[in-house]
Amino acid sequence: MRPHQEGIVTARPGSPAAGAFGLFAVLLAAAPTVAAPPGFDGRRAFADLEAICAIGPRISGTEGMAQQQQLLLDHFTELGAECAFQEFDVPHPRTGEPTRLRNLLVTWHPETTERILLGCHYDTRPRPDREPLPRNRDLPFIGANDGASGVAALMELGRQMSALAPRYGVDFVFFDAEEFLWDDRRDNYFLGSEHFAKNYVNSPPPHRYVAGVVLDMVADKDLRIYYEGFSLRYARPVAESVWKTAEKIGVKQFVARRRHEVRDDHLPLNQIAKIPTIDIIDFDYPHWHTRNDIPANCSAESLEAVGRVMVAWLSDLPDFSPRR
Ligand SMILES: [Zn+2]
Repeated sequence: MRPHQEGIVTARPGSPAAGAFGLFAVLLAAAPTVAAPPGFDGRRAFADLEAICAIGPRISGTEGMAQQQQLLLDHFTELGAECAFQEFDVPHPRTGEPTRLRNLLVTWHPETTERILLGCHYDTRPRPDREPLPRNRDLPFIGANDGASGVAALMELGRQMSALAPRYGVDFVFFDAEEFLWDDRRDNYFLGSEHFAKNYVNSPPPHRYVAGVVLDMVADKDLRIYYEGFSLRYARPVAESVWKTAEKIGVKQFVARRRHEVRDDHLPLNQIAKIPTIDIIDFDYPHWHTRNDIPANCSAESLEAVGRVMVAWLSDLPDFSPRR
């Protein structure tokens, strides 16, 4: 993903909204807290993150990606989900050779026609292009936070699914080729999510997605998740319900203030598929697109914070059904 514009968009401190929220937070702190949902285990999710990183880079169309796909297929099949790959070819950005891309669809409660989409990208960027020294920009990029963190969160969430009875059906979607690119000005982002979104419009499935959540960079040791700009523009009720859930269960890493605007997989889902989708992302990660995006700069606690919010949110989903 990348920032919408150069620089960051920051909420003004002391704005009326921030002040009102501050008061609200104090009042809530005095109220009895809702019991934490059992289940989501950050340490187990972190072990998943390490296992994915141990594969090495998972660049679209490579052996590393194929190994990860097999790992996920085995994992979710064993947990009782229906798994399917959505396959398509693109010209390789560098060579022009046809390259097979695969989104992985993991379906829970397949009989339900109104559904929630939980997604992440599972490819890693081909190069750590933000390395300070140009000669280091062709060394391997592991993508512990940018790539593996969303995958690990969904792997552990998968272990919770049999205990949940959400109001809507749930699909996990692993998007290929979020950043299958060597040159930002020449190559395109979001190949997997764009294909998914176009397919949803051109060959409509029997089900409809009523809301979506994309998880990206959710394992930063110093986790702070702010509202992301496009999420508020396209899917404010979804965003507010997630942050409200975090408040309710006392997860302080979710801060109900708008900060960055990030172009990510939620854009094709909103703009093409018209699925109201938010991006849960901590875009203040000092190791972004560098060789230091490794497990040591991620934490089990951060994964658990996000996982607990997702479990609680799925357990008590608001009514997202379109008005008829
Ligand atoms: Zn990235």
